[in-house]
Amino acid sequence: MQGNLNIVEEFCQATGMRLNVKKSAGFDIKPGSKNIYVINDFEPKWTVDHQKLCLVNPSEGNKYLGIKVSSWTGCTKEDLFIKLETWCERIGQSILKPRQKLEILKSYALARVAYYLYQVDYPQTKLKEIDCMIRRFVKKWLHLPACTTDHLLYTSTAMGGLGIPRLAKSAPCSRINTKRTVLNSKDENITCFVKTTGIEDEIKDTAEKLCIRIPSNPKRPASWRKSEEKQWEAQPTADKGRKCFEHKCSNSWLQAGSKHLREGDFISALQVRADTYPTRVTLARPDGREDITCRRCKTAPETIGHILGHCPAMYGYRIYRHNGIVDTLCDRLKLKGWLVSKEPRLRDAVVKMWIPDIVAVKDGKVVLIDPTDCKFGIVRKVTTGITGLWQPSVHSDVAF
Ligand SMILES: [Zn+2]
Repeated sequence: MQGNLNIVEEFCQATGMRLNVKKSAGFDIKPGSKNIYVINDFEPKWTVDHQKLCLVNPSEGNKYLGIKVSSWTGCTKEDLFIKLETWCERIGQSILKPRQKLEILKSYALARVAYYLYQVDYPQTKLKEIDCMIRRFVKKWLHLPACTTDHLLYTSTAMGGLGIPRLAKSAPCSRINTKRTVLNSKDENITCFVKTTGIEDEIKDTAEKLCIRIPSNPKRPASWRKSEEKQWEAQPTADKGRKCFEHKCSNSWLQAGSKHLREGDFISALQVRADTYPTRVTLARPDGREDITCRRCKTAPETIGHILGHCPAMYGYRIYRHNGIVDTLCDRLKLKGWLVSKEPRLRDAVVKMWIPDIVAVKDGKVVLIDPTDCKFGIVRKVTTGITGLWQPSVHSDVAF
């Protein structure tokens, strides 16, 4: 052993490197009688760079890059459930706002666990249990009913979810990406050797089992989030307007640090997004009540779509929101150097009157903007150019 250590020391000196003795350890195994091994039966005097090398029990393991590695069994498996449950309980007890709790969970607790799971192949059943526990805490912090779809939590924030990693999928997915990197190595010797280990079938099986999408381009990483979006979309209670939210601009209020909404409004907006806001139609699902008509106008079922888009009792609020968006857009356009006209009266070639919400002119370009329906003061869709009333032929004939 000392001879080997001398070789290492010599190599380090020749290459300008240094062995960190404090972080290193050794152990001794000797064959005993009748297939029995004897471990560390003496006090060695191993030294490197005039420093004594510690003796370690191979079954206990040593910490390497934050992961405990045992000489017998490889990476040792920690009890992640207890660890994360303790962290979640502490986060929950803190005097933080719900969104701050969520951010701490994602940025610190889950990021740390993700690193561990990137190295260690953890059992799927255990990961599913951990995911279930995390969902329970998050729904409690955000005051979401237990029946809220899990896909709201796991869909990316850009696509309208909370962007929490589903460990049962994200951990195998990151390991698949590592294996693909090795498989597509530029070194032919490595790829040839790796292929003999059956790694390709292993990747394919895991991806199929966990609905992980593997792109044909080897440089692009495998992803699991897309399946969450699709499964959410396929749910019968999924928001009918989901298609309109599939853009990062429409979901900026979900991003960390967003100040568009107050805490209570953020939670209400999440309930609307998950279709669990307590309208009469939503409340009728569990208790089966018969009267689902709107409490204000009593003319149609009380759904979010009805309240925000059709209820005559809410007409004033709709106009107020619409005007608020028009004013904000006008201010922004003016800041960008556009000449803005709000609700100008225009006549086309057949002397028909048109009143678009905004007409903006800059550098010989004309843009017509009609803000469409909105929810909670956020622009759901801002259509630029020719929309609805404004047919292409009409647009070209508009005279200024
Ligand atoms: Zn109504």
